[in-house]
Amino acid sequence: MLTQLIYRSRSTRGFSPQDLTQLAADLTQRNKALQISGLLLYDGAYFLQVLEGEEAVVDGLYAALGKDERHTDLVLLLRDPIPHTHFRDFRMNTLDVRQTQGMTGHGKWLNWGASLGLSGHRGHRSERIIEAFVRGRWRDGVPAAVWTVDTDAPHPQAPAFTETPPEATPQGPAHARFALQPIVHTKSRRITSVEALLRGPNGESPHAVLSAVAPNRLHDFDLRSKADAIALAAALRLDCTLSVNLLPMSLVANDDAVDFLVQQCQKHHWPCHQLLVEITEEEAITHFDDFIKAVHKLRASGIQVAIDDFGAGHAGLSLLADFQPDKLKVDKRIIQGVSSSGPRQAIVRSVIEFCFCLGITVVAEGVESFEDWCWLQSAGVRRFQGYLFARPSLQGMNPVNWPAGTQHS
Ligand code: C2E
Ligand code: MN
Ligand code: MN
Repeated sequence: MLTQLIYRSRSTRGFSPQDLTQLAADLTQRNKALQISGLLLYDGAYFLQVLEGEEAVVDGLYAALGKDERHTDLVLLLRDPIPHTHFRDFRMNTLDVRQTQGMTGHGKWLNWGASLGLSGHRGHRSERIIEAFVRGRWRDGVPAAVWTVDTDAPHPQAPAFTETPPEATPQGPAHARFALQPIVHTKSRRITSVEALLRGPNGESPHAVLSAVAPNRLHDFDLRSKADAIALAAALRLDCTLSVNLLPMSLVANDDAVDFLVQQCQKHHWPCHQLLVEITEEEAITHFDDFIKAVHKLRASGIQVAIDDFGAGHAGLSLLADFQPDKLKVDKRIIQGVSSSGPRQAIVRSVIEFCFCLGITVVAEGVESFEDWCWLQSAGVRRFQGYLFARPSLQGMNPVNWPAGTQHS
């Protein structure tokens, strides 16, 4: 199958117009052998390259390009099947974007495009991506750096329920256990909140625990289990926000849900404003009016609200249009690989923009790679949760791995 692939990368050294001509000649040689055609743009710091050819050959070339020392920070912008190639021969057409200074207006761009042999791309997404690059987008490389960490001293593990393992009952465990995972503000090197993740007596997953509960008791169990999460945070004397997960229906189906949470906070001397309820979007939208009533009650008592796994479901934007949380947690499927994925970068950038305008705090979830953290940081995300910093720990907290060199206020 014919495939078109577009990526952008950052050059590791400057290329003069002569260097660029030489590079294009080299690439033309290689492309002829591989039956690949394409286009190379350079602006003095960044490359944008279009490759067209047989899928396996294009993929193989892209993988090999990652090891080419002339450039770094490869970001994949497009990879799609095409009915025919857009370039007539196997030349690697080249555009030195530095020479397009002052190119404004779409008409001028079309002239440039025609001179590059881009007529076949007219109206195709690839043409618009190329234009976006010429107009200054896709230039935000993060300097390559080495991941070194400073690790915090271990936190004490909670005494709370570790010594007396909770007994299983038909309704679920008598006491719920939680694994705690920090959400970190790496610039100031602070743990801003800690998320309590439900676990079974032997560390079973939330899904396993919740599916063992009788369906008619699920929302009750979900809500009441939060008493143990609050008790745990209080026992550990956490000096930050405690985030708990609730099914939206756990807030709606229990008439006393908010009163219960407030009572538990009072019982354990945990300030209500240091409690945050995380809700996934999907169920919320189907019971919207009841959900909003519950959220108003939470807010009236000082408890914060977050939308969890944003971008994983289907109702994200329409929910946000009608309800703005204190925090938005961007799902790990969008976060993971962001440093090398153009679509993910464009999505995260727009999320940051609308959250900034609406006063919503963005949290990136599931951060596992240093490169992703670097990109997110440079794009303006400040709060992170993920294995890169700390894994969840049963009834306690793991020490945080801080990126070295970030210790300042
Ligand atoms: P969540 O609220 O999005 O919680 C984050 C999940 O991502 C956790 O999985 C955590 O262990 C995992 N995680 C954290 N960092 C990373 C990372 O860097 N990479 C990867 N791959 N995963 C990471 P966990 O504990 O299995 O929880 C799964 C889901 O179960 C939670 O997702 C939450 O939606 C739900 N859940 C947890 N506790 C409760 C609860 O008390 N009630 C309800 N209704 N749902 C809960
Ligand atoms: Mn959550
Ligand atoms: Mn989540």
